Amino acid sequence: MSKSEVFVLKFGGTSVQDATAMGRVVEITRSEGGTVPVVVTSACAGITNDLVACGECCGKMDQQGADEIVQRISDRHHEILKDLCGAHPAYDCSSELEEMLGELRQLVHGTILLGETTPRTVDTILSFGERLSSLLLRTAFQVAGVNAALVDSRDFIITESQHGSALPIMSEIERRTPEIINPIREEYDAIIAQGFIGRTVDGITTTIGRGGSDHTAALIGGGLGAEEIQIWTDVDGVMTADPRIVPKALVVPEMTFTEARELAWFGAKVIHPDTILPAVAKNIPVVIRNSHAPSAPGTRIWPDSHQIAPGFHSLTIKRNLRLIELATKIPGEGREIIDTAIASFARYNAPIECAVIAESRASILVSESTWNDRLRVALESVCLVQTHPKMALLCLSGSGLRTTPFLLASPLAALADISIRLVAAGSSDHVVLLGIEESEAEKGLRGVHERLFEE
Ligand code: ADP
Ligand code: ASP
Ligand code: MG
Repeated sequence: MSKSEVFVLKFGGTSVQDATAMGRVVEITRSEGGTVPVVVTSACAGITNDLVACGECCGKMDQQGADEIVQRISDRHHEILKDLCGAHPAYDCSSELEEMLGELRQLVHGTILLGETTPRTVDTILSFGERLSSLLLRTAFQVAGVNAALVDSRDFIITESQHGSALPIMSEIERRTPEIINPIREEYDAIIAQGFIGRTVDGITTTIGRGGSDHTAALIGGGLGAEEIQIWTDVDGVMTADPRIVPKALVVPEMTFTEARELAWFGAKVIHPDTILPAVAKNIPVVIRNSHAPSAPGTRIWPDSHQIAPGFHSLTIKRNLRLIELATKIPGEGREIIDTAIASFARYNAPIECAVIAESRASILVSESTWNDRLRVALESVCLVQTHPKMALLCLSGSGLRTTPFLLASPLAALADISIRLVAAGSSDHVVLLGIEESEAEKGLRGVHERLFEE
């Protein structure tokens, strides 16, 4: 079986939100998926959020709230199924659908009786989103005359047990994915698998983190040595900014793995940062494309060795940060004080998002959710501490940023009327980070976007 035959196509929530969208998935898979495409699906748009809310109702013993949500989920999937196979009763999988929904109802009732939700139960509840959508997607393929197999990703996406964001175990995934998928590739025209969900070696259902279906696609692509991983979403590719903030945003035609990872890390939701890892390990290109406009070429993400014109490519905002400004208590006190203070961030579980360090001062950004009292006390015991909540990082990503002269002049000029509390440039060839108040972040992003991409 040649490597060139394997294409992994991942479809996000809006790409499988209803019967029409699922029909598009089938057409795209036919035209872009090579000989035996492996389709990775998200839950239908909004369903994972519904399941999260359902889990919360279970924890509060709110039977009525949980029942209403499960009913809504049931209605939505039955409706899609009706739309899919109204004219093709032979493919009606209502009984399988009901069986799966029955399993969800039972789990929800059991959890309410116990009156507590554990991360493990929540993961099992969340897993129904992708399990339900994949069942319907198989019907969409069958109705269109495509002989599609439905596999259970939990049989090969093996993970550690950190529920909610379980770490994939690469050696197991690389062994099991071909073991399960290769023998059935000859028999079927498409193979459908669920994103987001996995299992521990002990057989307990896990999830790999919100937005994790992109990552699943790359794990499967890596496991099968795919020719290409396609991430089909609701925008034309990676854009110069989130189009919800800048409607005039343009498509970025290409970028490297490292740039894409940094961009995702600093807040571009269009791709999950971990998606890139298995692709990097195996040098598999990743393409982001629009399932609502499949003729658009999208964004191609290349291995780092690929040459890309230097310059800025895209802007993002990372929000909910707190700026911590440290200074030595006595002027002239040594750098070791600042170094001791900085070591406390790791000790008290507040990973540093961005830092600028001078001889007797440091400015450090951490996520608001990780900032904690024990860290504050530790910092105050060695130095002067001032903190500023509601901060954001404006991230300018691109390539050749360290080596191309004068690149920063233009974006900084666009921010002339915004107070910049921190600038981090030069540590990466792919990002420049500016710490500004969250309330000014969108205005700043629009200003820089206009200057860099609209003039
Ligand atoms: P999916 O459900 O297909 O995984 P997501 O909602 O996770 O889709 O990601 C796509 C969304 O990411 C887009 O609708 C867009 O609003 C947002 N987004 C944020 N930053 C960017 C960017 N730089 N380029 C493209 N989309 C972006
Ligand atoms: N359905 C999951 C979520 O909404 C995973 C995904 O869509 O990638 O987070
Ligand atoms: Mg996504």
